[in-house]
This record gives sequence, C-alpha cells and structure tokens, in this order.
Amino acid sequence: MKEILIRGAETLLTMDDTRRVFSGADLRIRDGAIAEIGEGLQSEGEIIEARGCVVTPGLINTHHHLYQTLTRAVPGAEDALLFGWLRRLYPIWAEFGPEEVHVSAQVGLAELALSGCTLSSDHLYVFPNGARLEDTIAAAAEIGLRFHPTRGAMSIGESDGGLPPDSLVEQEARILEDSIRVIDAFHDPAEGSMCRVGLAPCSPFSVSRDLMREAALLARDKGVMLHTHLAENDEDVAYSLENFGCRPGQYAEDLGWTGEDVWHAHCVKLDGQEIALFAGSRTGVAHCPCSNCRLGSGIAPVRAMRDAGVPVALGVDGSASNDTGNLMAEARQAMLLQRVSQGADAMSPYEALEIATRGGAEVLNRPDCGQLAIGKRADVVIWDVSGVESAGSWDKAALLLAGPTRVKHLLVEGRQIVRDGQVVTLDLPRVIERQNQLAQNLRARLPG
Ligand SMILES: [Zn+2]
Repeated sequence: MKEILIRGAETLLTMDDTRRVFSGADLRIRDGAIAEIGEGLQSEGEIIEARGCVVTPGLINTHHHLYQTLTRAVPGAEDALLFGWLRRLYPIWAEFGPEEVHVSAQVGLAELALSGCTLSSDHLYVFPNGARLEDTIAAAAEIGLRFHPTRGAMSIGESDGGLPPDSLVEQEARILEDSIRVIDAFHDPAEGSMCRVGLAPCSPFSVSRDLMREAALLARDKGVMLHTHLAENDEDVAYSLENFGCRPGQYAEDLGWTGEDVWHAHCVKLDGQEIALFAGSRTGVAHCPCSNCRLGSGIAPVRAMRDAGVPVALGVDGSASNDTGNLMAEARQAMLLQRVSQGADAMSPYEALEIATRGGAEVLNRPDCGQLAIGKRADVVIWDVSGVESAGSWDKAALLLAGPTRVKHLLVEGRQIVRDGQVVTLDLPRVIERQNQLAQNLRARLPG
C-alpha cells in the first residue's frame, strides 16, 4: 500500500460538492486515491511539503490536437483566418508519420503537465504515412498523464469539394473499422481509468452526414464519447446554413450529436436556442479562449451557457492555433474574455478554475476526477505561491489573478509526474531536441 502525505498547504481548494477551502491542511493519498484531508496528519510514507503553496485538483484539458506542437508559429499561418490557416497547414501535416505524431504528443503533454494538467483529451484526425492513434496513447502512458484520445477523421477531400487535400482524407469504411479497433484495444471504462477512447470526426465540413451518423451509432454501441468542432466562427455557421440548411446546433441534434456523452469544441457562435438545446440535453462544450482569440473567431457565450446549465470545460486547442499549450494561462484567458464582453463581475478567478477542474470532469464524464475529496483519484497540483508572481497578493489562492502558471509538483493517480518544476517521467530535454530536429526536417522538405 503506497502512501503519500501532502503536508501543510497554505490553502487547499477542494472544488468538492460544497467547494470547501482549507487552510494549513494536509492531504493523504493511498493507492492512487485521496484517503484523508485534515490538519496535523502523520504518515510513515512519502512526505511532500506544501508550505507556501496552494493545492488544487489537477486541471483537465478537453480539446487539443497534440500533433500540432510540431507546427507552431508557422509563417503563412500566423495571421490567417481559420480556413486559410488550415489550407496552409494541411500540406505540412501530410508529411507527418508515426514519429512526428509521437514526439509531438510527448511535447504537448509535457507542456500541459507543467501548467497543471493531469487529464487531457486529444483529437487526432490525420493519420498520414502510417501514423496511428496509439502513437499518442504511448506518449501519454510514458509521461503518466490520464488520457482521453479521440479517433478523429476527415473523409471529404479537395476533389469532393472539401477543404483538406485528398492525401489527408480516409475512406469512411476504413475510418469506422479503425475506430472499432482502437476502442477494443485501448478503451478502459473503469473508475480510475488512465485511457478512454472517443470518436471524433473532425468537423461537419470535413466528413459526410453519413459518417457523423454512423460514428454516433458506433459510439453508443461501444459506450464511448463523441467529440467534434462546432460553431467555431461565422464562416462555420454560414457553411452549415448553406450546405445543411440549418444552424450547427440543429445539424448536431439531427445526427444524434447531442447528449451527455457528447462534447463540442468552441461553440463560439451558439445562439440562445442552441444554448437551450445543449443545456436540456447536457451536451458539453470545450471552451478554447486563446484559440478563439488567436484565430479571431469571437467570444464564446460562456456566461450564458453556464447560467443556462450547459456543462462547460476548457481546452487549449491545437498548438498551431494557440500556439501555446498552457492550461493555467487558458483558465485566466477564459476569465478575462467573459469580462471583456460581460463586465468585470462576469467571472471570478475561482469560477474559471472550477471550469478548468470540475468542469472538465463533468464534460468528460469523470466523476472520479476534478476535485479533492475522499475516494476521488489523486490527481493533485501544488502551486508555489512564495515566488515573484504572487508577491504582494492579498488572496494567494486567487491564482488566476496573480500566481504561477507553472506547477511546483504534480501528481496523477498518486504518482509524481512533476517534481520541483521538472517533469520526472520523461527525458524532456531530449524530446525537445528531437522535436526541433523534426521541425527543421519538415522545413527543409517543404517549399515556403
Ligand atoms: Zn480544434
């Protein structure tokens, strides 16, 4: 029986059902789960000192394309709008293979871990040159993060009037076949699961209506979740009106893409009716504020969604449209963006942190994660608030107003992944070196 005691936290934000906050508290972890919270606890096991620190649940990232860490800040895509941005990047992604996808996932997950993330989903929708979903699953297992990979797909290429080049799209029968394969091989529905697979056709404009419907049927048959991009910007809504004769929310509902086993990325342009539809059906939203700013998509109506009862979580989105992958910074951006559109009292730093933790667990159907409470999984972050970022703060637990965006310690399932600000489960300097080599090789191969 492995035991760890996190001792003497200046503040411990539980995000439990009554949002309890403790001062000077200790937290006992036993066999990967939280066993006890209280003062003056003793242990014969490992001790992690948390004096001068704020302890929170691990942050949960609900939208990412990890492979894109290899195409950050690409000239020609830096200032383009969504569709132009995709056209610039598709030919580069077409050159990827298993190693590019694997190393990119290592980089992206390490960046997330350092910013407080203990559970990430991923949306991989390109499989060029033999790349497979397990290239990312292996990376998550190596670093030790909880992982919800989704088997994405694109099937409408340029020759069929779609946006992606034909070399990046797959036949729909083959997509479904591989979806079944990865669910059977890797999906673990158990409590405390370290890997849950979902199905995620890329977007309504890159796959057929049939594939959307088939994916929903397959997901329900297998008991896995559904994910895609929806209502990201005005172009996206215009495409839906023109091609499907309805708004994105209606399209989703018609194809079986609403419900508590579905979450959609972005939803910047949902109108009042669509918000009511999502609230009533408990359809989740992955809010990606930095990506929305970066691509000029707009401000998602998060305040209205939360007030209506829509489950909202956070996502950093792919590194090519952020271009960073810092989940703590993303939470701050979520808070700030609601204030831009709704006023300074629209969202507190505590509510934004709640969206990043509990909110993520709700959207991903992980009641075993996202809060510090007895019996929950021991996904815990320790933030050092004795440093320069917090100096002079009167409320050191208001991390999103003044505080570190890089963790001191981070544990997943009671296992230490980050110690004293360094990832200890991966040789990160070597991974970074390899990633930079791969980027250089791509630049040398491709024109422009
Ligand atoms: Zn995305």
